Formats: sequence, structure tokens, C-alpha cells
Amino acid sequence: MPQKRIYAFGGGKAEGNKDLKEVLGGKGAGLAEMSNIGIPVPPGFTITTDVCSEYYRSGKKLPRALEPELRAALKKVEALTGKGFGDPENPLLVSVRSGARVSMPGMMDTVLNLGLNDATVAGLAVRSQNARFAWDSYRRFVAMFGDVVLGMKPERKEDRDPFEVILEDKKRAHGVRFDSELPVEALQELVAEFKAEIQRRKGTAFPDDPTEQLRAAVAAVFRSWENDRAIAYRRMNGIPAEWGTAVTVQSMVFGNMGEDSGTGVAFTRNPANGTDELYGEFLVNAQGEDVVSGIRTPQKIAELAARWPDLAGQLEEVRAGLERHNRDMQDIEFTIERGKLYVLQTRTGKRTGLAAVRIAVEMADAKLITKDEALLRVEPEALNHVLRPVFDGERKAQAIKAGKLLATGLPAGPGAASGRLVFFAEDAEAWRARGETVLLARHETSPEDIRGMAAAEGFLTAFGGMTSHAALVARQMGKVALVGCEALRFDYHARKMIVAMPSGAERILGEGEWISIDGSAGEVIGGKLETRPSEVVEVLVERSRDPKGARVYQEFAKLLSWADQARRLKVRANADQPDQATTAVAFGAQGIGLCRTEHMFFGEGKIGPMREMIVAETEEDRRRALAKLLPLQREDFRGLFVAMAGRPVTIRTLDPPLHEFLPHDEAGVAELARATGKTIEWIRERVDGLAESNPMLGHRGCRLGISYPEITEMQARAIFEAAIDATEGGARVEPEVMIPLVGAKKELDDQAAVVRRVAEEVFAERGRKVRYLVGTMIEVPRGALTAGEIARTAEFFSFGTNDLTQTTFGLSRDDTGPVLKSYLQKDIYPVDPFVSIDRDGVGALMKIAVAGGRGARPGLKLGICGEHGGDPSSVAFCHGIGLDYVSCSPYRLPIARLAAAQAALREQAASAKPRPARAAKRAGVNGAAHAPRKLAKGRRAGARARAGA
Ligand code: PEP
Ligand code: MG
Repeated sequence: MPQKRIYAFGGGKAEGNKDLKEVLGGKGAGLAEMSNIGIPVPPGFTITTDVCSEYYRSGKKLPRALEPELRAALKKVEALTGKGFGDPENPLLVSVRSGARVSMPGMMDTVLNLGLNDATVAGLAVRSQNARFAWDSYRRFVAMFGDVVLGMKPERKEDRDPFEVILEDKKRAHGVRFDSELPVEALQELVAEFKAEIQRRKGTAFPDDPTEQLRAAVAAVFRSWENDRAIAYRRMNGIPAEWGTAVTVQSMVFGNMGEDSGTGVAFTRNPANGTDELYGEFLVNAQGEDVVSGIRTPQKIAELAARWPDLAGQLEEVRAGLERHNRDMQDIEFTIERGKLYVLQTRTGKRTGLAAVRIAVEMADAKLITKDEALLRVEPEALNHVLRPVFDGERKAQAIKAGKLLATGLPAGPGAASGRLVFFAEDAEAWRARGETVLLARHETSPEDIRGMAAAEGFLTAFGGMTSHAALVARQMGKVALVGCEALRFDYHARKMIVAMPSGAERILGEGEWISIDGSAGEVIGGKLETRPSEVVEVLVERSRDPKGARVYQEFAKLLSWADQARRLKVRANADQPDQATTAVAFGAQGIGLCRTEHMFFGEGKIGPMREMIVAETEEDRRRALAKLLPLQREDFRGLFVAMAGRPVTIRTLDPPLHEFLPHDEAGVAELARATGKTIEWIRERVDGLAESNPMLGHRGCRLGISYPEITEMQARAIFEAAIDATEGGARVEPEVMIPLVGAKKELDDQAAVVRRVAEEVFAERGRKVRYLVGTMIEVPRGALTAGEIARTAEFFSFGTNDLTQTTFGLSRDDTGPVLKSYLQKDIYPVDPFVSIDRDGVGALMKIAVAGGRGARPGLKLGICGEHGGDPSSVAFCHGIGLDYVSCSPYRLPIARLAAAQAALREQAASAKPRPARAAKRAGVNGAAHAPRKLAKGRRAGARARAGA
């Protein structure tokens, strides 16, 4: 069959449908589907993403074979609309829009009103009986064509759009403020002046031939797939470059035909908090772009009923129909042309994490979707949003009482954030890079600002509504945001924000000043405000709120209870203190997967004896210091066992290079000298002597215990005495002693023998036994490669993927910064391997270790405790290779639970139905099994998680 490059829709039917997103993009597939189910959609057609690939393959040329299909498709649209493309009597005008398979709001280009020229504008004027409207459309088209197709859009922030400059001059010359006040003659002059500007800058004439306009616009939209902001957006959201965009060409309907026309955007549920209501905004007598760009602040959708009750009723029907049909919350664009409603677009609506949970749970409760579908609807990372802090109510009230409320706006991105003010996206990036917390404030944001928005803690804009660019991006990135704060004005040159305060006074804030924004309440507050935990944290961790009245908590808990039923992987926490363990249990931990004992030594009163132990030169001195540490460690372990109430607790023996614990300042050195009775010089020499060139690959891990068995002895004694103490106190215990950095069976043999010997000694002394396991971390390649050997001694493995990544790549986990920056920019690594498991390298070693380990010891318990244990894509990988559990920080447990459930559900779905040929072919390259994930922001990959925690 010849390749089909174009799919038509309109007139109550379509060649495509909602399942063809890969080929038609989300927009094209949505329009086709709406046509099929009888929603009023202006007719049009979609050029496939394959044509985009052809375009790039052939050196940015449209394939010749497209021409006849294009002509035929236009004919169909002409027939359905009764208009002619280029017909001077009754011209058909079209929009040309991008549409990738996942929505990339505002990242690519659009051309509207295409088909206008000096002849057709006259026809439009007659047909619409509105010369002003016809010429206004024409001047918009010429400018858009110049900007988008001919590349005249300014590239730097300081430059202005050439057409804007001409327009401003024209308004000044006519003494008017708004575009809408310009008379027809002025619009006619603008068209001529815009065309002259094109000729002057580009050396070519504006093309009058509509077919030529169309070809050029389609190519321009394909090109916009490779513009800077689209690339940045793809990188941030893990969208493969190979996908390409489709182009949808659709007959124009006009919301700017007068007072009986309008345009709007709406969500079928509230995208900020998930409430089941039509939520959005509209503008009377305007074109769609006016709403999205935020140039005029629109009216709330609720007000539409007062103006056009019939249309409001129709919109409600559309909402119900689309939700029923798509079984998900939709984001729609609509236009009213002379009292008739058209839906121009529907797509799955972006939503905050808060809304995602509520919508999924409520749709499942209403039986619109299944529980399994509800689980797959929520991005695991989105659960972070539900755990996000809010401002402390009392402190905020005090601040407001003290007159610090600067402005109010629309709550576009819930949560609370404080930061220092910056006014340019580039500054947000630069300030963040030097460690500042910033809030980006602008009149409005545009897709060019995307990187700065990612760098900022939150943002606020003076203009635009809940569907403005800033609002969409906030929801998607999970940022705190306020939009439409009309009291704000900006003097970008002076780097100042001028606030018309509710009191009537004016306040000027300069760059760098602290402000706070409440993205749930819609408030801008001067100064820095403390935040308070989310409702979920209050219920689960702080236990300061009754779960009964806590709706957000209830929905969160319900979704996770479904996740727990669906998942196979167990979840454990990396925790070193009893309070962390309690939090972990509250978040669903089924055990502790990693207690880093070294973290305990930083506690009150412990670092002194620890240092004495390290500088000791003789075994006798070392044992003296260890004896001081023993009761402290024992008490810590007992606390952990009690908090975990019978769940397994994996305790790792000492791992990091010893000199990390030594004092490097004068006071610390003097203190240690005093405690040990040595001279300051002696201590200094000893500290210097313990320094290593490559501490990460030096005297650490099991090597320490092998050099100084008395350290392992003390730790083993503390573990077993604590276990017996806890048992005697009524607790059940399940200790697992874990030896780090093992690369050879004999290393483990040596340390396991020490542990087992001490266990027997303690059991004999106390007259009581506890069951325990001795296992190892697999975190160096040799350990993975010889896992079959090691498993003859090890009773469990836990993958230390932080070190395994470091040693597999030969890339120091402490020094990744500069390397990863350029590697990610140049796509040398698709994602940061310290965040998401490198399946081909590190993952391959893990598979070898799983096979080797289970081959030697069937049923060997397997887990992971590197940072990857809380990363959704890595969790899916761990599920796939058959691990028993993942272990991560307590606050990432909900994410891991959901990710584990999704992995199980996806596996079931994959084994239930064979993939269709096309999908399978694509999946081989970019498919779900290898789907790249978001690059984690703000979470320091790898190493020095060990130092703080
Ligand atoms: C690891 O290496 O993955 C690990 C968990 O241990 P640490 O980060 O403490 O080296
Ligand atoms: Mg390690």
C-alpha cells in the first residue's frame, strides 16, 4: 500500500482516530476523533509525523509525493466549507499548526489566516460584511508569516519584533492605545508596510499565492521541531528527537467577527486541584492566540453562561461527551463564530500532581476508568507535588496583617515558595547556578523563557489567565506559580517591579529582593516566609492532622493502597535514625534497605570517639575508642529495630574513607589532641597521613574492616546486642548485616566470619539468639561479574548503584558536574546515569549478578539501595530483572510504590496482548521499555547524599 501522508477530518467523519497519535500527533488524532463522534469541528487534514522525518531526511525538503495528496485534501475541505482556497469571491482560510504525539505547549510554531492576499482579502471583507475584520486578519497573517515562516522573529530579549515596532508607530500616529482602535485604512497601510519590511529584510516578496504560502508554512512548522525552545523542552521531558511533529491544516473559524463571536480555552476538570467542573476562560470578539498569549486578561468560563446560556449548555455537553469518550480530563480550545460553537482542539489536559491524584481517584470511583488505569494516569514524580510544603497559615496571616500582601493573582501552580526576585529567564538560570533560590517575575512568559522557568522555584506574571503559557508550564513542571497579577508592572531596564498595593500605595521592588508566593491561594507576599508541610505530611509524618477531614490525604492514600495491591516489588527505605525510620514506615516502607552506619557517627557525642578510633596507631588504642562507640551504636540500632517493628533492617558496616571523619580545622585538631593526649603536630601528621589520592577508590568499604577487624567486631556486637535488647523489650527483629564494596568472595568470607563469630559470642553471653542474615552490596563490576562465587557466602545482595555507576563508567561520583553538563547537552548520555540506571552498562552488570547470584543460591534475596531506588524508570528496570525490593529515601517511597505498581501493570499488559507491528517497530527505537525520563532537578545525584542525610 502506498504511504498515506495526509489524513482528512470534518463533516462528522475522519480518516484517523485517537489511536493514531504517533502518526497524527495529539492534536491531529484528537480532531479526527472529535469529528468521528459528532463534535462540531472545522474541517481540515493532518500531515503525518512520518512526513516530518522525510522532510529532515531529504535535507529539509517536502517530499514531492505530498503535492497531489495536499491538493486532494484541500479539495475535500473546500467541498465541506463551500469555500475555495485562493478564491477571491469566497476564500477558504486555514490555520497551520504543529502537533507532536505528546503536547509541547507553545514550543513550536503556528500560522493563522493563511490564504489571504490582496485579492482574497476583498472577498473576505464582502462575505463577512466587515472590512475591518478582513484587513485585521490580513495584517496579522503577514506579520505571523514574516515571523514564523521567514524567520523575522527577534532572537534576543533586547530586540523587538519588527512588525510590533511598525504597529506601535502606527498606533502612535493615529493617537490610539489599542490595536482594535485602528481604522481600516491604517490596517491596509500596515499590510503594505509589513510587506515592504519583508522585502527589505529578506530580499524576497511576501508570497501572494496561497498554495505557496501553505507549502512554506508546513515546512516552517516542521522546522520548528528543531528550534531551541522545543529542543530544551524535549530534553527536560525526555521526548525523543526522532518523534517529529505532525502538521494540522484546518479551516479557520473566527472568534473576532464581532460581539456575537468569541474564543476560549477550558479544561473539563480544574487542572490545579482536580475539582470536577468546567474550568477555563474566554474572550469576546477575539482570536484564539489572544487567550493563550495572555495579551488580554480573559473572563472566567462561569461568566459565559450569563452572556450565552445556550452556548454554555452546549459546552457542558461537549465536556461530558469528551470525558466520556476519552475517559480522561481534556483541555479544549473553542471558538464561537457568529453564535455557532466550534471545538478546535482537544487533548489530554496537563494537571498538577494534586489534580492528577484527585482526577484519577474520582474517575475510578465513578467507574469511568479502572483502578489500574487510575494508577497508570499519575506520573510517579507528580506525587512529589502532593508532599510539597505550604506556608504556615499563622505566619502568613501575620505577614498579611503587617501589610506585606503585595498583590493577588490566579493560583496557577499550587504550593508555597519564597525566593529572590529576578526579571529575566537568563538571570534565573545564572542565579540558580550560583546557588540562589529565585522567583521569576515577568509581565508574561513565553516559550523562550522555558529554561529560566525550570531554574526558578516559582514564577509570577502580571498578565494572562489560567491557560497562559506561564500557567501551563507551571502545571507541567510542578512549579509554584501565580498569573494575572494585574497590580504588577515592570521596568525591565531598571530591573524593578512596581506594585500597586491593595492599600492604594505603590511599592517598588528591585532585583534580588525576597518575596513569597502562595500558588494555592493566589497571593504575593513581601519578604521571606517559612513554609509548613503538606496535608499528607501533617497526617502521616507529623500526626498533627486528623486524616478524616483531610481530602488530599485520603485520595493519596487510596491511590497508594491500589498501588500496593498491584505491585510485586517491595519497597524499603534508606534510613539511619529512628525518626527517619518512623517516617519511612508512615510512607509505606516494608523494611530498611540501607542504614549507613557512618551517618550515625556525626551525631551528638559520637564524632569525638570516632576520631580517636581513626587516629589510633595501635589496636589497643583503637579498641579503647571503639569501646566508647559501642553503647552509642547499640542504642541507635535498638531505636531502629523498635521503629521498624519486625520489618527487616539492613545495616551496613562502615564504608567511607576514614579521613572523611577527621577534623581539618585548627579547633578540631586541638580538641582531638586534647582527647587523645597527643600533640597537635602529631594529630596533623596523622590526618595528613590518612589522606588518599582517590578516596572513593581507596581504603574504604570492606577494606576497612579487613584492615581493622575490630571495627567490624564492634559494629556486629552493637547490632546483635541491640537486636537482643529490642527483643527483650518486646519487639520482633530481623537484622541483615551488609558488607560494602565487595569485589571478591574472600573479602566477604573474611568479614562474614567476623560477624558470625561475634554473633555467637553475643548469643552465648546473653543466652538468647536472633535470626539474622549476612549479605553484601554489589557495587563494583568485579562483584557483579563474580556474583556466583560471592553468593556462596552472601545470603542477600543489595545493588549499590551509586558506586556501581561510578565504577562502571569510571566517572567519579563526586566530580560529575562539569562532565555531565556537556555530556547531557550533547546527548552523549541520554540521561544522568547517577539518576536513572544506565540499562545497557550498569544494568547489564546487574543482570549478570542476578543470574550468577540466583544460580548459586536459588531464592537469593535481591534489592537495590543506590539513589536509583527512588527513580521511576529505574524502579521499572528493577522490577523487570526480578529484584525483590527497591530502597530509597523515605519521601520518595510513595513514588517508588506507584512506579512499582505501574511496572507490574505494564508487564501484565505487555504479556496479555502482542504489540501491533507498527507500534513494536517504533517501540524498538524509542518505546516505553527504554523511555527516557525527566532529568531530576535539584536532587544531587549520587555521592554526597552520603555526607549529609
Ligand atoms: C551505593 O553505592 O549505591 C550505595 C548505596 O552506597 P553509598 O552511596 O553509601 O556509597
Ligand atoms: Mg556504595
